[in-house]
Amino acid sequence: MNILVTGATRGIGKAIAKSLQGNIFAVGRNEELLREYRNYYVCDLTDNTGLKGLGEYIKANNIDILINNAGEYIYSPIEECSLDNISRIMKLNLEAPLYLISQAVPYMKLKGWGRIVNIGSISGVMGEACASLYSASKSGLIGGTKALALELAEFGITVNTINPGWVDTDMGNSSANNGDWSRDEIIECIPQRRFVAPSEVAGMVKYLISEDAKGVTGQSINLCAGLSVGC
Ligand code: NAD
Repeated sequence: MNILVTGATRGIGKAIAKSLQGNIFAVGRNEELLREYRNYYVCDLTDNTGLKGLGEYIKANNIDILINNAGEYIYSPIEECSLDNISRIMKLNLEAPLYLISQAVPYMKLKGWGRIVNIGSISGVMGEACASLYSASKSGLIGGTKALALELAEFGITVNTINPGWVDTDMGNSSANNGDWSRDEIIECIPQRRFVAPSEVAGMVKYLISEDAKGVTGQSINLCAGLSVGC
């Protein structure tokens, strides 16, 4: 299996890339960190030239499992959201995954098998104040997942989105530090009173790309320590 993981240099993406069996193709911005992988591609996913180059890389390497993981969170009241921030978040969290899917699908169709897993967020399922850009981008992934699951079902390709809640990574911890609540206050609101570990997200990816999950497609799976069902 040829598995491409975006944002593989740290956090959830690294946990995914390190836990899966197969040829891993790691994507990130920092070449030094990517050197630990045999196959890697250096790319800023908000840059059209880089993105197109990655599209070619996907086609040249017959990627049959695509994990769209890279993403950015932004905490900002709507009146402080600049056009640059709106464009960057939409580009990274929504447009880039859709473009990479468009580049991976021709080979998957030819093979009659493929797996696409997007890393969304619980913020794309529930509202989150001052996170409208992030929430909107992650909701978009869920919409795309349903449409693509229907479009690609007859070709043996499944498409799913995992929606993590608070995860113990640089992003999770810096979001906790930058918002209006302390980490302890956030944990009080999580039914399991804990952050999810990156390895738990990796475990869900492992399941979704397995043959056991061939009937699971078009789904948006919340992995949030109970956050989505109440406090
Ligand atoms: P992280 O910030 O620790 O890692 C993000 C990864 O994406 C890094 O490898 C980073 O280099 C890469 N990346 C960021 N901007 C990029 C760009 N412009 N071009 C290429 N790569 C870029 O974050 P994480 O917590 O590991 O998050 C991974 C995914 O999980 C993201 O899509 C995020 O939205 C989602 N998520 C995280 C949490 C959380 O609490 N940590 C919660 C819900 C969803």
